[in-house]
Order: sequence, then C-alpha cells, then structure tokens
Amino acid sequence: MPLVRGTEFVKAARKSGYAVGGFNTNNLEWTRAILAGAQEANAPILIQTSMGAAKYMGGYKVCYDLVRDTVESMNITVPVALHLDHGAYEDALECIEIGYNSVMFDGSHLPFAENLEKAKDVVAKAHAKGVSVECEVGTIGGEEDGIIGSGELADVNECIQMAATGLDYLACGIGNIHGVYPENWVGLDFGHLKEITDALGPDVPLVLHGGSGIPKEQVQKAISMGISKVNVNTECQQVFAAATRKYIEEGKDHDDKGFDPRKLLAPGTKAIEQLVVDRIEWFGSTNKA
Ligand SMILES: [Zn+2]
Repeated sequence: MPLVRGTEFVKAARKSGYAVGGFNTNNLEWTRAILAGAQEANAPILIQTSMGAAKYMGGYKVCYDLVRDTVESMNITVPVALHLDHGAYEDALECIEIGYNSVMFDGSHLPFAENLEKAKDVVAKAHAKGVSVECEVGTIGGEEDGIIGSGELADVNECIQMAATGLDYLACGIGNIHGVYPENWVGLDFGHLKEITDALGPDVPLVLHGGSGIPKEQVQKAISMGISKVNVNTECQQVFAAATRKYIEEGKDHDDKGFDPRKLLAPGTKAIEQLVVDRIEWFGSTNKA
C-alpha cells in the first residue's frame, strides 16, 4: 500500500475512542521494526522523523525514499503516514514539497501570534498538496532536538484559535514531558484535558507527546478523553539499547561472526518491533487498519 496522509485514520481514531501511534525512526533497522510492528498489529501508524534524525540520516529526501521503498519492499498493507515531528517552519515546508504525508509545525517556542500566523500558512500549503498538519500550543516539557519547553499546560483560548486554522491534529501540553519522566512527576492533568476537549468539541484529534514512561492507565484514560495520536520515541531508544547491551554483555559478538551488524543489531530491532506491537495494543488501535 502506498503511503497515505494521517487525517482520515487519526480522525477515525478520535471518533471511535482509540489512538494511533506515532513512532520515531532513526535508520533502516528502526524503520523496518516500526513497520513490522504495525503490520503485525494490523494497525495504522505514523512513522516519524525529527529534524535531528533526518539530519542524521542524510536529509528529508533520504527519509522519504527509505520509508516509501521499505513499505513497498516489505509488502506493508496497513496505512502508513510519514510524518515530520517537531518541525521548524522551513522544515515543514520542505517536507511538504518532498512528499511527507504529514508534518508537525512546532511554533510553540514563538510568540503565540507568530506561531498562529505561520501555522495558518503551513496548513494552507500542506492542504493544497493533500498533506496533514499537526501544530502545537503551549510548550511540552523536556527537550526534543533543541526545542526546549518548560511550560506544561496549553492555554485553552490558544487551543481554540489554533484549531480554527483547520489543522488535522493538535498537540497541547497536559502535564506531559519529553524524555524520561522524573520521579516526582505529578502525572497528566485530566481536568485540563477536559477543559480543552470541552472547548474544542469532538472533531479535533489531540496529540500526546512524550508517550514514553506514562503509566498505561493514564495513557488509556487520556485516549478515552480525546487523545488520538500518541508519540513514542524515548522508549524505542531504551529497548533498543538494552537489547544491544545484553547481546554484547553475553559475549555474543565474539561467537561465530556475531559481530556481523545483521546479527549485532537484530535483538534491538526485534525489541523495537515488540514495543510497537505492545504500545499499539495499549492505544487500542490493534486491528484498526
Ligand atoms: Zn514531541
């Protein structure tokens, strides 16, 4: 199946009360693992690149070609959208031109008026090419590719104005943070999430960033209240690193050609695939392809 935009399947998730996973890729192995997990779970997904990951891989064109060709070579039949995660304005426009199916314009670090103005422009240019758009209001705590957020609760009035741009899904802080959650984290603010969904109504899918490390009950409660896309990045990195560490600590790289990257990277790749299947199950999108 060719790549598709995210609008339809994320809106379907919002309507039926489940969420679609947005998983960040970094290379060939991660791409294959994420796609294999989605196919195994028979679920629609967004495979995402941050600006940093795209730079690491050699640019957006490389990412686009890699994902598109891998979907084809693996005979992936579930809906897959290639999405830019936390894109600056120029990067969002570049990805729209290159063929990404979905872009996040993250202007959350800008003054709100400028964020809104640029979001309108990205939405117009993206929709003219059939590309889905995610925007962000307020900041999400933690750090992702140098975009640092310390605020945690999105302003409801700003959410209303941003949704009015006609965007496809909205990221808004509800106490979530990127990276590893600190021990003293107070949890998601469901009261604030309810204020946002009450204000926006049932037609605007919301995105939960920092999906790694939020307890399952909290993730599922948030989904039941209107979160329709959950981003997972850090946790894939953690399971990949742990499985690779175990392989080396057990001395398997010294076994018969165990240093071959096709063997060395296999346990980590398998660990990502399994995590993707597990998280899709948490999100309720198993068999929703
Ligand atoms: Zn994020």
